[in-house]
Amino acid sequence: MTTAGVTRELLDALPVPELVGYYRDLHAHPELSMSEHRTAATLAERLRAAGYDTTEGVGGTGVAALLRNGDGPTVMIRADLDALPIGEETGLPYASTVPGVMHACGHDLHTTCLAGTAQALAAGRDAWSGTLLVVGQPAEETAEGALAMVNDGLFSRFPRPDVVLGQHVGPTPVGSIGHRAGLIMSAATNVDVRIFGRGGHGSAPELCVDPVVTAAYLVTRLQSIVSREFAATEAVVVTTGRIQAGTTANVIPDEALVTLNIRTQTQDARDKVIDAIRRIADAECAASRCPRPPEITLSGDFPVTMNDPDVATRVRAVHAELFGEPLVVEYGPLMGSEDFPVFGMAEHHGGQAVPYAFWFFGGTAWDLWNAAPGEGREKVLNVPANHTPRFAPDAEPAVRTGVTALTSAALTYLDLR
Ligand SMILES: [Zn+2]
Ligand SMILES: [Zn+2]
Repeated sequence: MTTAGVTRELLDALPVPELVGYYRDLHAHPELSMSEHRTAATLAERLRAAGYDTTEGVGGTGVAALLRNGDGPTVMIRADLDALPIGEETGLPYASTVPGVMHACGHDLHTTCLAGTAQALAAGRDAWSGTLLVVGQPAEETAEGALAMVNDGLFSRFPRPDVVLGQHVGPTPVGSIGHRAGLIMSAATNVDVRIFGRGGHGSAPELCVDPVVTAAYLVTRLQSIVSREFAATEAVVVTTGRIQAGTTANVIPDEALVTLNIRTQTQDARDKVIDAIRRIADAECAASRCPRPPEITLSGDFPVTMNDPDVATRVRAVHAELFGEPLVVEYGPLMGSEDFPVFGMAEHHGGQAVPYAFWFFGGTAWDLWNAAPGEGREKVLNVPANHTPRFAPDAEPAVRTGVTALTSAALTYLDLR
């Protein structure tokens, strides 16, 4: 039988309504990055029940589960577990019960689909041979989780995978799939610039060094990095997400904090942006006669997601068979970021990278999609998207889509009997 044929059989046998119940339960109980205790425990319980050798607490709240099923390749499938500090406004009956915390990026859906795929492949183990490594990763949103699991020995305590597979729900219509061979998501880094002035009375600026004015010049001057230091053909984003200084009108503060988020499509471009930020921040502080140079701190580092062209092409082909060619579209490269690629990086595998593919699947209900203004991809801007308080994937078809996509991708690399 073909990969698509086996997938259809396994999905037919899977209790999808029960899985949708699991999704709703996860959605109602979101947990922030590195605090996914309940989420991890429920996932581990399911994997154990399905026959996996399951280990909890890998890299904090990570879960790694193994199913050895005879000779053949080792395939790793991964989902992320964490929610976001956003107050939910969907009005759904299964909306978040935790004030200010919401599964607004769909990681609850990823976890559900990971569990569903693990259950389907365990129940249908007569159809394939090989080893399946199922990974529930904490703290994707903060770029910590994948690295924490790797640093906690994921690839020494468990078998090294031959391929790594992962997926993300997006705002395209449910049942659609987005693929790209090569670059699909960008690198990201946060940069804190702490500016040191000399505070004092608001009436006596001549006795002070006003860090607010320095911060204002800095934010303006930083705009010239993208516009004047990069070719028009190179995609780079430098966003000032936060400026903090002062307490009241008549006090000049001692310090100002400027927090930047940068996105690039190569590691070289990332390094070049950071060098430019350092140079401009140093110079602006010197120009303002700051008593000392600024303090610059980097965090939230995401590498680029560079799909292996062969893996992406093979997975895309089976998805086209299952979902229909018109629903499988070219996607990205996006300026958004993921820590998923950490699992494939050469530095974590003794110098030899593990090929991977990461794809998107749509979660928006078709009636919402059809009613949204705009044509084609423009509609993405007019439906509730990830990281917004109204993000609400169409549960049942989204679960079905995600499980089908992940199961068929895994079966593409496992040996069919
Ligand atoms: Zn997110
Ligand atoms: Zn996400």
